[in-house]
Amino acid sequence: MASPLQLPGWRHVSSGKVRDLYVPDPSTSSGTTAAPDRMLLVASDRVSAFDFALSPGIPGKGVLLTTLSLWWFDRLAGGDGGRSIPNHLLEGHVPDQVAGRSMLVKALDMQPIECVVRGYLTGSGWAEYQHSGTVCGIRIPAGLSDGDRLPAPIFTPAYKAPQGEHDENISFDRMIEIVGADRAEELRDLSLEVYERAAAAAEQRGVILADTKFEFGVDADGVLTLADEVLTSDSSRYWDAEAWATGTTPAERMASFDKQIVRDWLAAHWDKQGTPPELPAEIVERTAARYRELLTRLTSA
Ligand code: ATP
Ligand code: MG
Repeated sequence: MASPLQLPGWRHVSSGKVRDLYVPDPSTSSGTTAAPDRMLLVASDRVSAFDFALSPGIPGKGVLLTTLSLWWFDRLAGGDGGRSIPNHLLEGHVPDQVAGRSMLVKALDMQPIECVVRGYLTGSGWAEYQHSGTVCGIRIPAGLSDGDRLPAPIFTPAYKAPQGEHDENISFDRMIEIVGADRAEELRDLSLEVYERAAAAAEQRGVILADTKFEFGVDADGVLTLADEVLTSDSSRYWDAEAWATGTTPAERMASFDKQIVRDWLAAHWDKQGTPPELPAEIVERTAARYRELLTRLTSA
């Protein structure tokens, strides 16, 4: 991985698969030695699939993900007329070098849970369902096909593994052991609420929000706060509603606006052992075009 950018006034602290995290540099006047209260979240063009970082990146992806996150944060904060969901965004200046692909955020105490909501059956959920009739242990009616809508959205948490390890699906009971019953219920209810609100907005624009993942943290006042990126094509599966309704094969029905193109190519060209192969230019460009199209479809309506 390329070494992270040097940003004046900021100190790099960690890099995830896609984002680089910075805290105020204590050696400059704006920084203090106390635990930082703010962070800079910089989205790169890096792309990952099956939890592996791939090469090359998708040009423009960092800007697109950030633009989409900011658009959703604004709507969820009440910009769509609904109730305001607290989020981690702060007002303020971001360094010019990363303008457009960075967010100034409150440093939160992050919950170690990926809050996944699924409205449709596919991916690992479909694989489990075929085997056992359940998705993450939740019983689902028989007779559904890959890509079908679930009778109601389900909450399927995952334990957020430390960096370098794979996230692990967990039962709701296990989540209660990790964060406590009250917090687990709060996270579940909030996740389902945000999913349903976003899915309805997407549907009006001819886009299906098949599933998504949220991360929450707790702020200094104890408020549960929506963090990280939100409802991006990296954290969600988005499909074209028209193709879903009229398609006859799973590939036609789930014409996706996300990195499914990358996942499919990789699944066909790599056995998930060792280093993943370089993505061909054509796959990179098709993925970039799909990311751009999603942003246009959602935000220009
Ligand atoms: P992936 O998303 O691919 O599973 P990752 O979560 O390890 O990878 P990134 O998403 O690239 O890594 O990095 C973002 C990191 O920043 C995550 O660990 C996330 O939990 C953390 N984070 C996001 N928002 C905040 C916040 N407001 N305060 C503290 N940490 C945050
Ligand atoms: Mg993440």
